[in-house]
Order: sequence, then structure tokens, then C-alpha cells
Amino acid sequence: QDRIVAAERGAADRPEVAMRPLSLDDFVGQRQVRENLRVFIAAAKARGEALDHVLFHGPPGLGKTTLAQIVAAEMGAGFRATSGPIIQRAGDLAALLTNLQPHDVLFIDEIHRMQPAVEEVLYPAMEDFQLDLIIGEGPAARSIRIDLPPFTLVGATTRSGRITRPLRERFGIPLRLQFYEPDELERIIQRGARLLTMDLAPDGAAEIARRARGTPRVAGRLLRRVRDFAAVAGLATVDAKAADNALTRLEVDRSGLDAMDRRYIQAIAEHYSGGPVGVDTMAAVLSEQRDVIEDVIEPYLIQQGFLQRTPRGRLLTDKAFGHVGLAVVRPPEL
Ligand code: ADP
Repeated sequence: QDRIVAAERGAADRPEVAMRPLSLDDFVGQRQVRENLRVFIAAAKARGEALDHVLFHGPPGLGKTTLAQIVAAEMGAGFRATSGPIIQRAGDLAALLTNLQPHDVLFIDEIHRMQPAVEEVLYPAMEDFQLDLIIGEGPAARSIRIDLPPFTLVGATTRSGRITRPLRERFGIPLRLQFYEPDELERIIQRGARLLTMDLAPDGAAEIARRARGTPRVAGRLLRRVRDFAAVAGLATVDAKAADNALTRLEVDRSGLDAMDRRYIQAIAEHYSGGPVGVDTMAAVLSEQRDVIEDVIEPYLIQQGFLQRTPRGRLLTDKAFGHVGLAVVRPPEL
């Protein structure tokens, strides 16, 4: 994964862990999510109970994992993390659950990618803090029930429609994360620059914020690359011009789109007269996974007004044609 604006986490993102906010007060943006969590956490603590199960959904890199850790810290509870595809068998999940302390947070990233057999173990665990396990095989098999400590499951998924209904219904607190506003990203970038002991001028931070796809992970990554370019150029301070130079060399344009985004727009414009075109067709045309197109590329293009999702497929807006320097064309029947 070598897109500089790719929202997924990669090995190169390890430095971002140091930039993670550790409390709700330090967490920038997502005001409604933050305020709701604050109320529910205070209420659970007042009752001496574990917090109800929380489901975060939204594009990658918006702070789901960070918030899960903050939930545990604010509850004064332990934090365990795993992910849907890692849990191979029901027994793996049982081992995790039976090792929890009361009120601990168990974080399951990419919870939509859990095996059905594993997911079924989760239902009674979430609902009644009980584990039903089958021991042995054939006629000798018997089922045993184990009591679990009250815990909080925090699940993360890119879209709530991705998870099965029975699972979704067991989350008392579903919360949707939105793309960040440039001024929020600016604060996140300023904070990151301080942690990197980097001299970043306010207009430099604003320039990176505008081009960070509304995504803190992308902002952190652009900040580190801009710092590299500035260091090699011998610049003491990174201002808007230095940031612009670096971002242009990284092929991140003024709207924060990269080469892949522009290729996506160009393909629909040139081959499908602006659409509508189906997502599977686009995946084939771009040789890209459908998930990446739906979870990473399209949400930002839609939010920026370059693309519309219609029942007949994806449709470019006039703004998108203009952005890649093409005249607006439309199929004859529209
Ligand atoms: P997700 O789990 O949604 O993919 P993460 O929680 O891993 O996203 O966030 C990616 C990175 O972005 C974090 O390591 C952190 O450095 C940064 N980050 C996310 N949200 C915020 C925020 N609100 N304020 C500051 N930094 C943030």
C-alpha cells in the first residue's frame, strides 16, 4: 500500500502511536461523539457498571482505535485489542473473553470480518456475559456455560451496513465518525508538530490540513513527509510554500486528491461519460479492491462533492470533470 493518502494503517505509521491523544479532552473534533461518550461513561461509572457496548463506524484513520483506548482510560479499565480476521476459531475468542477483568474494554477492529462461528459466541457474551462452549465431539460432546465478568465490547467497522443485524443490535451505543474539518485537522497537525519538535508556521499547518482528506492518519503521514522534504532542503521553518512544494511532489493536489483519486475520476469521465457506473466495474477498471474503492476512495470524493452514489451507480459531478481538466460530458439518455 504505497498511496501517501491511503487511509489504512501501514508499517510506516508506527510513529503515529506516539501522537495518539489519551483522554477525551485531548481528542480533537467529533464533538457529538465525544459529548455522548462523556455522558455515557459518567453514567456507567456512577452506577458502578461496565459501559454498554460501543460500535464505531466510519472510514479508516478517523480515530476509532484511539477512541476505544480513551474509553478504557476514562473508565479506569484495562484495554485489550484484537481484530475480526485475527480470531480464527471460537476458542480464540473464548480465551480472550475469559481473561478479561471486570469493566475491561475488548476492542475488535474490523469486526465485520469475523467468522460466523466466532460471531455466534459473541452474542450471549455481549448480552448476558455468558459463554456457551461445546466441549468434545460426536455423542460425547456436551455444552458448558461459563460466566464472564461484565465487560465492554468496542467494535470498529468502516460501515455499519457491513455487520450482521444480530451483531449490530447488540451494541447499545452506535457512533458514527465523520471526516474532520480543516481547522480541526490544523490543531491535530500543530500538536503533532510539537511532538516531532518541528517548527511549523501556522500557514504551513493550514496547507497540510486542507490537503489531508479530512483524516487525522493522513494528516500525520503528510506532516512527517513534509518534514523530510523540508529537512533535505535545509529549511528551518515549514511554511505554506514549503508544505505546498512537498505535497505537490507527493502528487497530493489542492483538494487533497492523489493520483489514484484522479485516475478514478478520469476513468468514469472518459470511459463512462461521467456514469452512472457500478462499483464492480470500477474495481476492474482500476485493478483495485472493491472494499478500498468503497471505504477509502469514494467517501471522500462524495464528501467533497465530486461524486454521487445513485441507485444506478456512481455519477460524477460537474465539479469532478473540472477538477481533472475535462469538459463535462453526459450519456445521451440523461
Ligand atoms: P482508525 O482506528 O479509525 O483507523 P486511529 O484511531 O488508528 O484510526 O487513528 C489514526 C491516527 O490518527 C492515530 O494514531 C492518531 O495519531 C490520529 N488521530 C485520530 N484521531 C485523532 C484526534 N481526534 N486527535 C488527534 N489525533 C488523532
